[in-house]
Amino acid sequence: MDVAERGLLLENRWDDAVAASLSPEALLVYRSNLLGSDKRITNYGGGNTSSKLDERDPLTGETVKVLWVKGSGGDIGSMRLDGFATLYMDKLISLQAIYKSDAQEDEMVGLYNHCTFNLNPRATSIDTALHGFIDRPHVDHVHPDAIIAIAASADSRKLTQEIYGDTVGWVPWRRPGFELGLWLKKFTEENPKARGLVLEAHGLFTWGDTQKECYETTLDVINRATEFLTKHSAGKSAFGGERIKSAMPEKRRAVAAGLMPVIRGLISKNGPFKLGHFDDSPEVLEFVGSRDLATLAPLGTSCPDHFLRTKIAPLVLDFDPGTQEVADLLPGLPEALETYREGYAAYYNRCKRANSPAMRDPNAVVYLIPGIGMLTFAADKATARIAGEFYRNAINVMRGATTVSVYRGLPEQEAFDIEYWLLEEAKLQRMPKPRALAGKVAFITGGAGGIGMASARRLMQDGACVVLCDIDRGVLETSRGELAKSFGADAVSTVWADVTKEDALVAAFHEAAAAFGGLDICVCNAGIASASPLEDTTLAIWQKNIDILATGYFLTSREAFRTMKEQGLGGSIIMIASKNALVASPGAAAYCTAKASELHLSRCVALEGAPFGIRSNVVNPDAVLRGSRIWKGEWGEQRAASYKTESFDDLEAVYRERSLLKRSVYPEDIAEGVAFFASEISSKSTGNIINVDAGNANAFTR
Ligand code: NAD
Repeated sequence: MDVAERGLLLENRWDDAVAASLSPEALLVYRSNLLGSDKRITNYGGGNTSSKLDERDPLTGETVKVLWVKGSGGDIGSMRLDGFATLYMDKLISLQAIYKSDAQEDEMVGLYNHCTFNLNPRATSIDTALHGFIDRPHVDHVHPDAIIAIAASADSRKLTQEIYGDTVGWVPWRRPGFELGLWLKKFTEENPKARGLVLEAHGLFTWGDTQKECYETTLDVINRATEFLTKHSAGKSAFGGERIKSAMPEKRRAVAAGLMPVIRGLISKNGPFKLGHFDDSPEVLEFVGSRDLATLAPLGTSCPDHFLRTKIAPLVLDFDPGTQEVADLLPGLPEALETYREGYAAYYNRCKRANSPAMRDPNAVVYLIPGIGMLTFAADKATARIAGEFYRNAINVMRGATTVSVYRGLPEQEAFDIEYWLLEEAKLQRMPKPRALAGKVAFITGGAGGIGMASARRLMQDGACVVLCDIDRGVLETSRGELAKSFGADAVSTVWADVTKEDALVAAFHEAAAAFGGLDICVCNAGIASASPLEDTTLAIWQKNIDILATGYFLTSREAFRTMKEQGLGGSIIMIASKNALVASPGAAAYCTAKASELHLSRCVALEGAPFGIRSNVVNPDAVLRGSRIWKGEWGEQRAASYKTESFDDLEAVYRERSLLKRSVYPEDIAEGVAFFASEISSKSTGNIINVDAGNANAFTR
């Protein structure tokens, strides 16, 4: 089978009919989205596109040439027209007259704003000059793995020549900026027939007279590199062949789940909490289990986009799933992480310049475990996932480069100068302040129910990631979809469990650990309501209440406690009990007793948790009719019958009038109590109770 048959080549997805209906500006968006939608062409957020278009100058009414170029931030796969910066071409070119040496590079970026066309507020990127100075109407700059494999090879110039002849040029590594823009200008002036340029250790520039030609050239240049690499890889085993056999999927996940909270604890102790991501895709397993892992991993990544996300090098843990268990890995972790931090600090000290920003977090982002996979940690889940994707790109690059040559990471000083570039620092400083629960993970049982979902929404508004756990698979899935729509798919995960079943619940907490890397907030909430006079209460009714409400809360809080203790970052356990935990109601002995036990359980958890910074508190709802599924069933009917009400609204009114404040209580009100106990605002409260019941004198605590 050749490369095309194996689906390795990029397909031309240009649609002439669609293109014909678009304005030149819209066509630039179309071209950019087509390119960015395939991660083989460019990584998330990486690369940029441009067109030099005729526009009417709002000042003079005359036609002027304007550079439309992707602005700072954003992703070409999803960007819209407002993602492009616009600059007067003549002004941009005129900057060449005042540029004398590369000492002025950072200063030049500030001058791009003076070239802005039509008051466009989009900030320009550092790649602006690269696009502006290539004297061609349309320019693409992308980071395809196949091209970077060539670009990161020891003899990348020779390989570029071998693949493309004179049609694609090559320039040595140079940090993006004004100077590199001038290099590209010189190259295109001297090589009028060239269609593109490989940038050593970085990526690809291609161009065309029309947008379609530009797009097709980009695809063609990448496909030729893919064909070349595929041809040379035939019959060779990647990375020197297998050293460690991969564990079975269940063991891989179990090791990740056991490892992640401990790593998270060790790297979050002295700074913001991190979130984790686990990847055991075939390409990761092939690399981490290979003979060459030990020599390739320390070389670091090459493309600047890659190492800005992954740090200069990963941390490799020594492990063999054939003979070892996760428990064998844990004792050595603190030292392994400390050694990495010391190595990073030494790199910082070796490379820092007089005006370098202070050293950033010295912990590793990428953790490689032979036979198991890769863990990545970052300030939020999406960034952790994307860091993993970037390292996968780096693996592809190393595979390609070692097939045809010797792989080369970027020289250390160059990597440092990018990582600690003042412009990068300014970008970090511009980032919005993190929200109150950013970096935190909440596990909510009964998460698909009324109070569970309201709590999830409230915690996510404050930046938490949420694991919804429920017994109802259908509603669980719909709830996941709803939250993903509002807060992004990265921030929510679901897991099925019956809280009365120990094995299922233990497995659910492992899933949560593998999904986000740990746990900070646990809301024990899965529940039911039931009523029957004492004499009619069967053992089955009694047992059901005890199983779900008492045993369920016990098992949930115990598992949360274990993870939190192991993680060493404290935590907050919140039990949704009931007014009936404090006030006995006639005809509900089983329910009231089970609810009362939750309250006391919380106090016991508070006592044992305090030495570890684990808090436990109770929120007591009462009569939350709207949104609750409890009230839609038998319970609601029984209550309606006993109060002789005809409609749901009437029943709600009965409870409203019964309250001291004469107000209805909603799931969102309970969620506020949850948010209070989850956040640092309540960091000095444990063993406490908040009633959210619109006032009930019998339930006053004392
Ligand atoms: P709800 O029915 O809307 O949500 C409860 C969720 O728990 C449901 O999604 C259900 O599928 C899940 N669940 C039930 N049994 C389970 C099990 N064995 N394992 C896993 N999941 C299970 O009800 P709600 O009103 O949101 O109630 C949430 C909590 O609040 C319950 O503990 C309830 O007792 C308590 N509470 C509610 C009220 C109220 O008026 N709604 C009053 C006091 C206390």
